[in-house]
Amino acid sequence: MTAAERSVDVLVIGGGQAGLAAGYYLRRAKADFVILDAQEAPGGAWRHFWPSLRLFSPAQYSSLPGRMMPPPPGGGYPSAADTIAYLTDYEQRYQLPIVRPTAVHAVRRGQGRLMVETHRGTWASRTVISATGTWSRPYIPHYPGMGDYRGRQLHTVGYRGPESLAGLRVIVVGGGNSAAQILAELSTVADTTWVSLRPPRLLPDEVDGRALFDLATRRHNAARTGQDAPSIADLGDIVAVPPVRDARERGALKAEPMFARLTPEGVAWSDGTTLAADAIIWCTGFRPALGHLAPLRLRGPDGLIPTDGTRATGESRLHLLGYGDWTGPASATLIGAGRTAKQAVPEIVASLGISSKQ
Ligand code: FAD
Repeated sequence: MTAAERSVDVLVIGGGQAGLAAGYYLRRAKADFVILDAQEAPGGAWRHFWPSLRLFSPAQYSSLPGRMMPPPPGGGYPSAADTIAYLTDYEQRYQLPIVRPTAVHAVRRGQGRLMVETHRGTWASRTVISATGTWSRPYIPHYPGMGDYRGRQLHTVGYRGPESLAGLRVIVVGGGNSAAQILAELSTVADTTWVSLRPPRLLPDEVDGRALFDLATRRHNAARTGQDAPSIADLGDIVAVPPVRDARERGALKAEPMFARLTPEGVAWSDGTTLAADAIIWCTGFRPALGHLAPLRLRGPDGLIPTDGTRATGESRLHLLGYGDWTGPASATLIGAGRTAKQAVPEIVASLGISSKQ
């Protein structure tokens, strides 16, 4: 293990929305902290999404603590670029101590501290908040014949817009928001087929990000008291943002069941039906980026790190923020990240014996 060159009370790994929300409350608590972010510039995952992506909610329901996201100039739901602009302004406004680009390779147990190894030296910290998100771990399921397919295959992270696929036969795989939003715009310029494991289910039009957050909170609270509460999945999977509604009105949102394998020309179902395709877009999700925590050996059988709230049950100096509902209600969203950080930071500050100003 390398000797630490710098030492802090709290080290946040990741400068996306979850890391910034933590930074806001750490700043208010006057904690000694730093945020290390692997990217060259602000914005987290939003830097990697396609330009036409729209948030699930209007700006006022897509905000981090302290500062409301301004409504986009043209109205409607904010885009990825609007969100990057907001996050850029946010970290400047609160003068968050972000060191970038700094990629964390490993977190290890040291003498009374966690040692955080980066490509630019090692930090020692009394507490670590991991907020590394999911976009860097795109997931594509394995299907027979994938290697033989001669067309183009890309994951959601590689999709940059419909232009390069105009006029082509494109299969969009997946039953979630990414698939629905990509299909909605691609179906206006390409010959699209939507394929998904289960029939995709649109949420009622009135259910946006705020309603999802309220539901996630109710479910989280109910779970703590041993009660039942409706799951978001009971209502549907896909937020009916305006472009998705348009596609629905055009009849473009019909999905086929999942194919069984790929062929050199396209895909084949188990009943022998085939479909030729020039490109396949795998909108099949992401996995939490937890590789840097591997030396701590905390993962459970499901690949996730068990937590009590945000605190790792196997390492009390480690908190996880963002990623998904397992670290807090809707904590992978802008509104949820703020609420989760608001609970986590006082707990961290108390455990360090710093008097919080919150
Ligand atoms: P990220 O934004 O991914 O930030 C993590 C940061 O950590 C990145 O900068 C990364 O470079 C850095 N990092 C990773 N590993 C390391 C490392 N080892 N060392 C140092 N730094 C590291 N969310 C909403 O809130 N509202 C929406 O309406 C919404 N709509 C969406 C629509 C679609 C179609 C999609 C695909 C996503 C949507 N999301 C929405 C989800 C949202 O984009 C992500 O959940 C969110 O960006 C996660 O924030 P985060 O801070 O946890 O992670």
